[in-house]
Amino acid sequence: METADVIIIGSGQGGVPLARDFAKERRQVVVFERDALGGSCINYGCTPSKAFLAAAHAAGRACQARKLGIHADIQVDFPAVMERVRSIRGSFNQGTQKRLHDAGVKVVCAEASFTGDRTVRGGDLTVQAPLVVINTGTSSLIPDIPGLAGTPYLTNRNFFDLKELPPRLLVIGAGYIGLELGQGLARLGSETHLIVRGARVLNHEEPDVSNVLAEALQRDGIHLHFNVDTEKVTYANNVFTLKLNNGQELQGEALLVVIGRKPNTSALNVAATGVELDEKGFVKIDEHFRTTCKGIYAIGDVANQPAFTHVSWEDYRRLKAILCGEERTRSDRVLGYAIYTEPQVGRVGMTIEEAQRKGLNARCVTLPMANIARAIEWGHDFGFYRMVIDNDTDKILGATLVGYETAELVHIFLSLIEAKATWQLLEQSVHIHPTYGEALPSLARLFIGEDMPSCPNM
Ligand SMILES: Cc1cc2nc3c(=O)[nH]c(=O)nc-3n(C[C@H](O)[C@H](O)[C@H](O)COP(=O)(O)OP(=O)(O)OC[C@H]3O[C@@H](n4cnc5c(N)ncnc54)[C@H](O)[C@@H]3O)c2cc1C
Repeated sequence: METADVIIIGSGQGGVPLARDFAKERRQVVVFERDALGGSCINYGCTPSKAFLAAAHAAGRACQARKLGIHADIQVDFPAVMERVRSIRGSFNQGTQKRLHDAGVKVVCAEASFTGDRTVRGGDLTVQAPLVVINTGTSSLIPDIPGLAGTPYLTNRNFFDLKELPPRLLVIGAGYIGLELGQGLARLGSETHLIVRGARVLNHEEPDVSNVLAEALQRDGIHLHFNVDTEKVTYANNVFTLKLNNGQELQGEALLVVIGRKPNTSALNVAATGVELDEKGFVKIDEHFRTTCKGIYAIGDVANQPAFTHVSWEDYRRLKAILCGEERTRSDRVLGYAIYTEPQVGRVGMTIEEAQRKGLNARCVTLPMANIARAIEWGHDFGFYRMVIDNDTDKILGATLVGYETAELVHIFLSLIEAKATWQLLEQSVHIHPTYGEALPSLARLFIGEDMPSCPNM
């Protein structure tokens, strides 16, 4: 058995920089990775999905340019779209390999499992270290639908290997991954059906966010089927047939299954350690990323943290600081996220409902995009901006921005909330005309009852 200073299981978004940092300090670091280096983000998540959406939204915007008086003849070279996606993913993946190699990290390409506390085996190697970090992420949750197993259905894992545009696409699941990839293929030309178990898409968001997105998807020609479950899947002659519980049958050449994620813990053999899992299989951690076993920590999605790359990366920074003796925790941070549909959703902090549930004297205002000069001028007048404040302290608690490129704009709120700013500070800021950002002081102005449009010309 070998010994090392640090073992990291999984080369996710937190594990890779952590491994490099320790290796640069001349510590012996072993990383176990059972699949592609760099984890889901680079290989099967953020990077390929956003590179794919760049093409899809270019096609979507070209189509929508019609309302500006521009008529484009759109021809989609799908193999070229996907080749570009794979080449970006390949270069990011190689970059990760190089960075780990250059830092002197020992990478073991094998599935790892514990054989005892802080002792891990993967491939031919068994290694023991005083510090072990679990960064194994999540994978697709696959529903137990009769007939599904054994068919060539898609998940985010194999979606980006597509070589040909499916003429018809069926999507089971209406979370952000289903919406991004479903809207993407629809914009590239697939006739798309989205099967939604409940009454709305994006059911973790506020209802009016779901409504805007549902309408946007329908404008793209996507068929939405609400309050239905898939009872049976059949696959014959390269065609999937879904039997829904309302009696309807849908057919498509591709079936994308995106109903949620499950933690990658089953292979870890945590029974050989004192590491406890919760009822869904996520690793239990405390405020300092400590598992229930001394010397073993967990970061990122596998520890049931908000499942985003920037969270896993920030987990690494905080864990590193904690291990260096700093007093940091995992929850004293402002977190946001974005959904890259069109329109986009940019979210940060609390919704009004969450704030009120916490007992805060919260208030919110909403400004429709149709009241924003820039949005009207550029033809992106669909969606709204919303801000939540604490009425007792005037501090900004949260924001929801639904509209064009709001994934960028929401960062203003991330910084304001991080700075514990009040809505008056935003109201006093003089923003540039005519921009989307100009609407944010106007949004704040709604708290003083000024029901004014975003610019003096309207
Ligand atoms: C389609 C899609 C789009 C996404 N888009 C975004 C986005 O736009 N923005 C965003 O912030 N987030 C996005 N995410 C989420 C993001 O990818 C994850 O939150 C992030 O990758 C989590 O990182 P992680 O460090 O927890 O682990 P991961 O990146 O999941 O890495 C875990 C690694 O551990 C390995 N592993 C697992 N078990 C073992 C084992 N026993 N032994 C060895 N190795 C093991 C896995 O192979 C994997 O490589 C997206 C996800 C998906 C699926």
